[in-house]
Amino acid sequence: MLPTLFGESVVMRLLDQSKLQVDMTKLGFSKADFAKFNRAIERPQGMVLVTGPTGSGKTNTLYSAINALNTEDVKILTAEDPVEFNFEGINQVPVRNEVGMTFAAALKAFLRQDPEIILVGEIRDMETAEIAVKAAMTGHLVCSTLHTNDCPSTIGRLIDIGIPSYMLAGSLLLVLAQRLFRKTCEHCREDITANYDSNELIEFGFHKEELAELKILRGKGCPRCTKGYKGRIGCFELMEVTENVAQAIQSEVPEEQLRKIAIKEGMNTLRRDGLNKVVQGVTTLEEVMANTILQKEALPAYLLNPDELIFEDGDLIIREGNTDKNFYQLLQGAIVIIKGGRVVGEISQPGEYFGEMSALLNQPRVATVKSKGKSIVKVFPGEKLESTVKDYPDISMRIIRSLITRLTESDKKLSKILSKSAPR
Ligand SMILES: [Zn+2]
Repeated sequence: MLPTLFGESVVMRLLDQSKLQVDMTKLGFSKADFAKFNRAIERPQGMVLVTGPTGSGKTNTLYSAINALNTEDVKILTAEDPVEFNFEGINQVPVRNEVGMTFAAALKAFLRQDPEIILVGEIRDMETAEIAVKAAMTGHLVCSTLHTNDCPSTIGRLIDIGIPSYMLAGSLLLVLAQRLFRKTCEHCREDITANYDSNELIEFGFHKEELAELKILRGKGCPRCTKGYKGRIGCFELMEVTENVAQAIQSEVPEEQLRKIAIKEGMNTLRRDGLNKVVQGVTTLEEVMANTILQKEALPAYLLNPDELIFEDGDLIIREGNTDKNFYQLLQGAIVIIKGGRVVGEISQPGEYFGEMSALLNQPRVATVKSKGKSIVKVFPGEKLESTVKDYPDISMRIIRSLITRLTESDKKLSKILSKSAPR
């Protein structure tokens, strides 16, 4: 199909195909993650990224996806290094850097063929990343892998490579980080819960409420297995790029914050998915401890899960002269700032903060804020502002930026109003 690109000969290294499991239902996805993964790969355009170290089963996962999507009327092109598994009806191009057939070169050639689905073995450089993102924004489903540890760090890596955050936010459908765990042998597994005390288990990441029912199993070894293990299963951290996640990606929030937001949007971390697999008796606690890390809470609860309020058009959010000190972040819609009965400003940029002046200066409200149309805002406790500014410089910077933008804007508006009223 791409004769000029193949060169003189096609060198395919066929690995042991019997080891490939291309049935998606058997990879180890939880029900919820399986549904999210399917939803993403069935989209007509966008990018699906699978990440993890070598030997984590990334290629296998993508092959399973491709296998599920491979029907007669769908054109699929792949660039791989090496081609590990042959699919009927799919054009697979082996990447050979020595003859200039790089991932980027293959991608460029692919776009001229206008396929529905493109699989790029790996994104390592700016050129490949850029073409992949653009393809994902122009009517192609692009699947690829990256060598990153988890979902949030994948975003940082792509931004470091040079992809603008708005393009990532606009093209990414999901990021999947994965590991392979050895599976517990079903024939010789036994209950070893008594080996652990509850404090230890909580330190590993289990919730207190889980402990009562928790049964930790491990194979003791039998003729049908190797030291209590038989086979392997994937462990997954699936970050669906929901509206809130996309917004966080676009505003380039720090990694820990993106992780928190993704968790709030339904992501299980690798550690959590591993622990779930321990609960199910599928793998051992040792295996999970050895292959995943526990992400400590990086932000306090009031910053992680602030209250969200919905306002209708004209609803009062802040009243001039009041002495409350909460501050807010606009999530959706717009708000207007009114001073002495006059509109002096408007905020419509999602993510902007407002109302922080009273907490900063310990003064009554200097303006009234009303909802313009329907709006959704997050409420933060005002008494925490000082400690937030001290402890979370990145959030502080955003608050300060919001503040400056707004001051500049209201300044312009005021001078306009003044110049209009001056001649009278
Ligand atoms: Zn066994």
